Amino acid sequence: MGTMGRFLKEQDGTAKTVFIGPCTAKKTEFQREEYQGYVDSVMTFEELQALIDSKDIDVTTLEKTDLCQASYYGRIFARSGGLSEAVASDMKNRSSEFEVKPISCNGIEECRSALLKASKGVLPYNFIEGMACKGGCVGGAGCLNHDDKNAKKIDDYAKEATSENVK
Ligand code: SF4
Repeated sequence: MGTMGRFLKEQDGTAKTVFIGPCTAKKTEFQREEYQGYVDSVMTFEELQALIDSKDIDVTTLEKTDLCQASYYGRIFARSGGLSEAVASDMKNRSSEFEVKPISCNGIEECRSALLKASKGVLPYNFIEGMACKGGCVGGAGCLNHDDKNAKKIDDYAKEATSENVK
């Protein structure tokens, strides 16, 4: 989030940057000294919904506008395993000889276990995808729901992307 905020501000110094997502951890990241001035506000999906409700806005009646296009890999970032797939694909595209052997950790305990094994040199993987929330960001605390079908919906949405590149 901080890196994206910095990128956007460097592109346009007048831009206002608001992170809207499922992640309550971003509220802490927002306060880190190295990102000061790059992110103007952080809001969870729940908070956005509350704001919309407080203004009596019925979003179903609003005209649709085009979203910025994210790639297949950009979209699957939202679920566990997506980050690893994106990194592996990017390494392949760069013709890198480095073979990514990822482990996707769901939740804090799996992250802790993988990091402990890595610190002892017994983890048989070379890339740790550590998702503090079970299922990845789709299971984040600020999501509007935690339906079991959400990961499948992300995959369906990702397949509609017109770009395969990682971005
Ligand atoms: S997995 Fe959870 S804590 Fe980690 S970035 Fe996603 S929403 Fe935030």
